[in-house]
Amino acid sequence: MRVAIAGAGLAGLSCAKYLVDAGHQPVVLERRNVLGGKVAAWKDEDGDWYETGLHIFFGAYPNMLQLFKELDIEDRLQWKEHSMIMNQPDNPGVYSRFDFPDIPAPLNGVLAILRNNNMLTWEEKIKFGIGLIPAMIQGQSYVEAMDQYSWTEWLQKQGIPERVNDEIFIAMAKALNFIGPDEISSTVILTAMNRFLQERYGSKMAFLDGAPPERLCQPMVDYITERGGEVLLEHPLQEILLNDDGSVRGYAIQGLGDRAAYTLEADAYVSAMPVDPLKLILPEPWREMPYFKQLDGLEGVPVINVHLWFDRKVTDIDHLLFSRSPLLSVYADMSNTCKEYANPDRSMLELVFAPAADWIGRSDEAIVEATMAELYKLFPDSLREAKLLKSKVVKTPRSVYKATPGRQQHRPSQETPIANFYLSGDFTMQRYLASMEGAVLSGKLTAQAIARDGAKSRGDRDLALAAQR
Ligand SMILES: Cc1cc2nc3c(=O)[nH]c(=O)nc-3n(C[C@H](O)[C@H](O)[C@H](O)COP(=O)(O)OP(=O)(O)OC[C@H]3O[C@@H](n4cnc5c(N)ncnc54)[C@H](O)[C@@H]3O)c2cc1C
Repeated sequence: MRVAIAGAGLAGLSCAKYLVDAGHQPVVLERRNVLGGKVAAWKDEDGDWYETGLHIFFGAYPNMLQLFKELDIEDRLQWKEHSMIMNQPDNPGVYSRFDFPDIPAPLNGVLAILRNNNMLTWEEKIKFGIGLIPAMIQGQSYVEAMDQYSWTEWLQKQGIPERVNDEIFIAMAKALNFIGPDEISSTVILTAMNRFLQERYGSKMAFLDGAPPERLCQPMVDYITERGGEVLLEHPLQEILLNDDGSVRGYAIQGLGDRAAYTLEADAYVSAMPVDPLKLILPEPWREMPYFKQLDGLEGVPVINVHLWFDRKVTDIDHLLFSRSPLLSVYADMSNTCKEYANPDRSMLELVFAPAADWIGRSDEAIVEATMAELYKLFPDSLREAKLLKSKVVKTPRSVYKATPGRQQHRPSQETPIANFYLSGDFTMQRYLASMEGAVLSGKLTAQAIARDGAKSRGDRDLALAAQR
């Protein structure tokens, strides 16, 4: 089957990869001139990379890890010590660590929490542990049911002290969805906690060894094209054209440069676009259908990724750091963590600026100034002498869907009520939230659905032909 896929983010590329594996011919159509969507990156005038987002891979990403294996690029994942490291805003320059011993889960996680003595008191640890028991015993069905509560509401319901939120979960909520614990659905944090506590290496982190478009997306493109598929950049889907019965007749592709507009016809069609542009492009006759109407409940959350190049080393930490600052979320010194960005003499800090709603409309200069002011509070000594050489700010006004309470019921399946139209993307329903793992899994599920439906319609056709004979 020929399958047209709009969007060359991880979901669209994963869908195409698993379609070629099943013997089909996908054509991926990407609006921009860069692969990767939310993992896209660019080189500046000095040849230095800057990215849409600081990206971390977790041990609890089975589909992503399987994909690396299938592409034969597992050596590109740079695994770090099994730890979580947090700044201590009240104690500048000092870090608090949760170190996971190499023993089976959940013991390793329990020990990591118990052995950390500079954030939570024993009473707080015990109350938190007791509060988590229903999630550990009842598993995912409990976790899904908790989507009605924000994380702060859930903590109150479980009798867990407010300070646990301040110490740990403001940072965790911002890292997972770029919003605070008063806004985030408890399903999101409980899902992450469940994976981290139930899998021995679930919370172990890896950095890619270079920029995602070259080091992860390009191998996917090579795999797809070597097996008969195509990936076309600067081919924006402009309109979904319909047959009289409401099924898709073709994708109208906008002309760009010397290339004229054209219509691409295929046997099946996929949108692997983010939910916000998808909603804008939905054909009029589909809009009132309950399946598509549910998408009104999903909307991308703003986030900003900041890059700061210094004239010297400002940290020696080869890991992700949770800043626990009001303006910033996680960050890393990429000159230590990433092979392609490595520099023994100079630091490049990559920082996620969140929540970003109040800042997304501000100038890059104001954002860099605010980021530097936060950093001075976190480690004044190492920054005092350092000179900021240059900076780069990447704003994403609508990134992953904002996971406030009640969003789970708005997440659509990969199969739609339209026989030859499918959805892919991190927002579609799969058990890995809005993440790279979720995007890769959604693409795989879409490819499976297409292959299944294709086999079924071939079977129906064979039966009909047999009946005619
Ligand atoms: C700052 C930041 C940090 C993050 N950190 C992490 C992390 O540490 N770990 C993690 O797992 N996840 C992280 N994520 C989330 C992760 O990047 C996303 O969940 C994932 O990449 C989404 O993939 P996707 O394919 O679903 O969507 P996208 O990547 O958004 O891809 C959609 C594609 O569709 C294209 N498109 C849009 N309109 C059209 C059109 N009309 N025609 C053709 N193409 C179109 C877009 O250009 C884009 O390429 C982070 C995200 C951000 C923004």
